[in-house]
Amino acid sequence: MKLIDIHLHIGHLFEWSKDAVKLWMDIGSYKPLIYDQQGLLIPERYLEVLYSENVYGGVLLPEYSPETAGVLPVERVFDVHRLDKRFIPFGAVNPNYHHNLLDEFKRQVDMGVKGLKVHSVHGLFFVNDKLLYPVYEYCQENKIPVMMHAGTSVFPKTKLRFADPYTFDDVAADFPELTIILCHAGRGFWYDIAMFMIKRHQNLFIDISGLPPQKLFEYYPGLTKSIDKFIFGTDFPGVPGISKNAEKIKNLGLNVDSLKSIFYRNAVNVLKFWEEGDLSEY
Ligand SMILES: [Zn+2]
Repeated sequence: MKLIDIHLHIGHLFEWSKDAVKLWMDIGSYKPLIYDQQGLLIPERYLEVLYSENVYGGVLLPEYSPETAGVLPVERVFDVHRLDKRFIPFGAVNPNYHHNLLDEFKRQVDMGVKGLKVHSVHGLFFVNDKLLYPVYEYCQENKIPVMMHAGTSVFPKTKLRFADPYTFDDVAADFPELTIILCHAGRGFWYDIAMFMIKRHQNLFIDISGLPPQKLFEYYPGLTKSIDKFIFGTDFPGVPGISKNAEKIKNLGLNVDSLKSIFYRNAVNVLKFWEEGDLSEY
């Protein structure tokens, strides 16, 4: 079964902080495959690795977190998107980094981004910061999906309070028409709240990246009943293995229909960047 991986990170090796490389990227074996000797990302290789892992398409994420993860500028996402349009460019803004958030995001949209990633835990802000509201308003009006890192991080200097579940609930409540995907939702200590939130908010979804797949039922006991709310993602290149993760999900005992939902159908339906017919051929 082909996969859509909606959580792919991209940037040159030297743009990541040393801690990010050590604590996150090095849990996978991908580093030597996708960078050259100088640490420059090789877009062709990045794609080859994804194809070899059965990935059909995905979402490419930049990040602006100078204090923790690093600055991985939006420009990088186009290096891969240019080669394969099934890999969708997203933008990112940080109230501690960008001057005018709406202007900056519009600049990124003009460049071609199709969604927004907000990383409050690495960027050291709250997702319900009022400075972000004009950007959410713009995304809601223009039907642009928003992904939010919604859980803890092991990186030094990150602070738990920026993962406060109720700040995510604020945004979902204030922008009921906005499509929001909670990445690694509830990681650390609020999986039950995340589960409650996807039931409460119609346009709220969970991407299961950065979570050990064998524990999904432990984290989300109601997963089967809300199967349309869970979307496959991995946090590549900081993942032990994309197809390994998929295998572990297959071993959970879900039926084929549920697996299709998680692996690609929900991504197709929620984000609307791909056609299900193109995937079911495989
Ligand atoms: Zn991530």
